[in-house]
Amino acid sequence: MPTRDDPQPSTREPTTAAIDTLDVVVIGAGFSGLYALHKLRCTGLRVVVLEAEPSVGGTWWANRYPGARVDIQSFEYSYSFSDPLQQDWHWNERYASQPELLRYANHVADRFDLRRHIRLNTRVKSAHFDEAHQRWRISSEDGRQWTARFIVTAIGPLSSPNTPAFEGLSSFEGQVLHTAAWPHEPVDFTGRDVAVVGTGSSAVQLIPLIAAQARTLTVFQRTAAYAVPAHNGPLDPERERQVKADYAGLRARNRKMRSGFGSELAPHPKPAVAVSDAERDAMFEERWRIGGFSLLGAFVDLLTDLRANEHAAEFVRKKIRQIVRDPSTAAALCPTHPIGCKRLCVDSGYYDTYNRPNVTLVDVSREPIHAITPSGLASGARSHTFDTLVLATGFDAFTGPMTRIDLCGRGGVTIQDKWRGGPLNYLGLSIAGFPNLFNLVGPGSTSAFTNVMVALEQHVDWIADCIAWLDAQGHTTIEASAEAEARWITFVNAVAQQTILLSCNSWYLGANIPGKPRVFMPLADGFPAYAQRCAEVARDGYAGFIVQ
Ligand SMILES: Cc1cc2nc3c(=O)[nH]c(=O)nc-3n(C[C@H](O)[C@H](O)[C@H](O)COP(=O)(O)OP(=O)(O)OC[C@H]3O[C@@H](n4cnc5c(N)ncnc54)[C@H](O)[C@@H]3O)c2cc1C
Repeated sequence: MPTRDDPQPSTREPTTAAIDTLDVVVIGAGFSGLYALHKLRCTGLRVVVLEAEPSVGGTWWANRYPGARVDIQSFEYSYSFSDPLQQDWHWNERYASQPELLRYANHVADRFDLRRHIRLNTRVKSAHFDEAHQRWRISSEDGRQWTARFIVTAIGPLSSPNTPAFEGLSSFEGQVLHTAAWPHEPVDFTGRDVAVVGTGSSAVQLIPLIAAQARTLTVFQRTAAYAVPAHNGPLDPERERQVKADYAGLRARNRKMRSGFGSELAPHPKPAVAVSDAERDAMFEERWRIGGFSLLGAFVDLLTDLRANEHAAEFVRKKIRQIVRDPSTAAALCPTHPIGCKRLCVDSGYYDTYNRPNVTLVDVSREPIHAITPSGLASGARSHTFDTLVLATGFDAFTGPMTRIDLCGRGGVTIQDKWRGGPLNYLGLSIAGFPNLFNLVGPGSTSAFTNVMVALEQHVDWIADCIAWLDAQGHTTIEASAEAEARWITFVNAVAQQTILLSCNSWYLGANIPGKPRVFMPLADGFPAYAQRCAEVARDGYAGFIVQ
């Protein structure tokens, strides 16, 4: 229940009978959708959230694999909009696990009385803009319909699981699991022969836990991953007290960080290329000891200068060679691409797992997977037998959740046509030809390239202000102009070109999905610059937007 100090929503309630009086339909009840609902209700709007799954929580409902947890410290990866909430909530671990994050999402839904506005088990099939009435018409897969002035797509950057089109997959006679659609009942791997395909963040989290249970584990790796230790553990009570004594200050300082977190650790005053080998290694050692993403924040030039990056990359490779006893396995685990180019993994015992006698690594860049067979898979000249296949094969990131909806703007233009060559948008928030549609933490904004909690709060606050401004000015619609959109995408690309981020095949680029256009999708300009740009656009009367 809301406390006395939490902002209170409007008492105007949408009912089934009043669906044509809705102001906003929010799609998705993950962290973005929950905050959008709360904030927009508090400004007096009538809002309904449509959620495909039977629960709130989004990412933290779907990704229930063993070891799933956040990679940013819990007290930073959490809502800041309500001080009573952040003071009351106690995080058990430094990096919250999936069950704890799901409990948090449910707590927020209850505390702010959100549930009566959320329709679960409601997958949006289509959303069409009705030009005559200047409203969106939304239909669910089971045939229910809504209309609203605004639509907010809170459908997540990573909510469309990717299953590669392996030949023979349906012929496999054992159990197939996907990390992003994990069963609700615990899976017992005891006595099983397990294969994991993929070595991205989810795989790095789950491999040590499966290895500890299974009879054998074979990991099929296409690209080796850089992983830094989480040093996870119970959250120190003294640390919690310090954070809560100045939570607002910490949040404000984090919002000044490019990544939206980590303000407690300043980078070295000099670039990595300007210090001695000993000084650089001492700094990397310190960050390795602290754990998490702090390694990438050690020097300001790690993501912009390949020479600097190579120092950090080689530091991690040395660690891998120290940890993994078998030299050929260690060599196969050493990545060759720049560190941070693909999302850095944060681990608990990942490399050490390869010292276990029941774990085998297969490098599928040398021995490609030809087919899944009834009893395993064929890769290179070998066949592998197992009874459980775990697909840790990631997501159709950023655009996948959107292009899976029949979304149609002005003049019958579909999102699939509009984004055929890549995700066109302005500020990541608005798409020319799709009036009164706001997209949260998707392509074109800092999104999953930063602390998503910080990004989503900024987006939602900006949208609430924008709607209030439209109403105050007597306007009906707002949408990006085609010119502003073109300039923005040129800018997003130009920013990526000034970094090391185009020098590998990452999901930021869509490279994990066959046929997807290669476009660097998130904005790599840092959160503060992005937020300032959005604020300036608003201050200048929503420059670059068409209002009617
Ligand atoms: C395993 C994993 C670890 C992560 N770790 C971090 C981290 O450490 N730090 C970080 O900042 N971010 C992390 N992320 C990114 C994470 O997605 C965001 O932090 C955040 O949870 C996104 O919230 P969201 O509400 O925007 O999207 P989501 O949580 O993805 O929620 C979107 C919701 O929309 C629903 N939906 C989608 N399409 C439809 C439709 N057509 N109709 C109805 N409902 C629909 C989905 O069912 C889902 O519930 C991680 C992601 C994953 C997958």
